[in-house]
Amino acid sequence: MQLVIIHYGEIGIKGKNREFFERKLMENIKKGLGNNAKKVYRRYGRIVAEVKDFQKSKMILEKTPGIEYFSPAKRVENDIEKIKEKVVKILNGKDFETFKIESKRSYKKFPLTSLEINKSVGAYVVHKFGKKVSMKSPDIRVFIEICEKESFVYTEKFYGIGGLPVTTGGKVICLLSGGIDSPVASFLIMKRGCKVIFVHFFNKTLHSSAVRKKIENIVKILSAYQNGAKLYMVDFSIVQNEIIKTVSSSYRMVMYRRIMTRIANEIAKRENAKALVTGDSIGQVASQTLDNLKIIYEVAKVPVLAPLSGMDKKEVIEIAKKIGTYNISIQPYPDCCSLMIAKHPVTKPDPKLINKFESEIDVEKLINQSLKKTEILEM
Ligand code: ATP
Ligand code: MG
Repeated sequence: MQLVIIHYGEIGIKGKNREFFERKLMENIKKGLGNNAKKVYRRYGRIVAEVKDFQKSKMILEKTPGIEYFSPAKRVENDIEKIKEKVVKILNGKDFETFKIESKRSYKKFPLTSLEINKSVGAYVVHKFGKKVSMKSPDIRVFIEICEKESFVYTEKFYGIGGLPVTTGGKVICLLSGGIDSPVASFLIMKRGCKVIFVHFFNKTLHSSAVRKKIENIVKILSAYQNGAKLYMVDFSIVQNEIIKTVSSSYRMVMYRRIMTRIANEIAKRENAKALVTGDSIGQVASQTLDNLKIIYEVAKVPVLAPLSGMDKKEVIEIAKKIGTYNISIQPYPDCCSLMIAKHPVTKPDPKLINKFESEIDVEKLINQSLKKTEILEM
């Protein structure tokens, strides 16, 4: 059995809510680790997990929002002599010339200060192995955490993604296309503690099962950050057929997106979700001018969160690569939004024209028909 010490950053400063955040994080870790974990518990402002396989746990913990860093550790009694022996045992056989001891005394009644612990343990390591201390660039760092009833010693720190535990922020609906942006937007919102429910619009009469597979694969990757996911696959063909008949081509994109937003409103109501999330980034493409976003978002009944609005494509791509969605996103596929639209869609839509177009179609009926033809997948 391997002991893992898990540290959270931000949730430690949440005042009265701290316990609620800690409990959620612990639940999420437990769920994620599954039967690889024998025990997961909160102790001394940390989470401690006892796991069978550290490498497997690492893959889960690296993707669990709310974790700052974690370490495979050894437990030792709160006694400086025992701590010294444990450090020597851990270092024995390791290849290093220089080292550094970094202690943290969370339990203030321990007789030595952090500095004194560093000096005392450091001197013992020098004596035992004849190696040198280096403060700036040691080959190995030994971390000692003094807690109330026991201490932990470790030499490796693995960094998590930070943020807040999922579900502490409530539910949101993400409009997920097959592109690079919206998966990144979903990830960023998950990282802030929200559970994301995915909605994808596709044209069933035109698009093959490859489109479906692509979306499912993206959702599968994202689901690892929140322990599972729900995906609404909405057949948008009825809406598109109607819009193509009545709306001039430069306005179609904006019209599609206004109806997508309204359908997402309905799904939000059903799911008791408190916001919509999109991958819009201001000015990135013609449909994402502020004038267009205003026209699109104004039909939303809950706030629209667009976490990429201030980002450059380069920054978005970097995150997409890190979270593992990039390679799937770049596979070519026809997004239904690009169906039968003008080469140059409007960038400053005229609200009067929008109203005119929408008065010529039965928007409510289209929404209801699309919702009836929606499939819900659980992953
Ligand atoms: P992405 O890379 O996310 O596809 P994009 O830069 O290609 O974004 P658009 O295609 O204009 O931009 O889409 C803007 C946003 O609208 C998307 O980020 C997504 O939130 C939403 N969206 C577009 N098409 C769909 C779709 N077929 N299903 C669900 N949401 C969509
Ligand atoms: Mg797109």
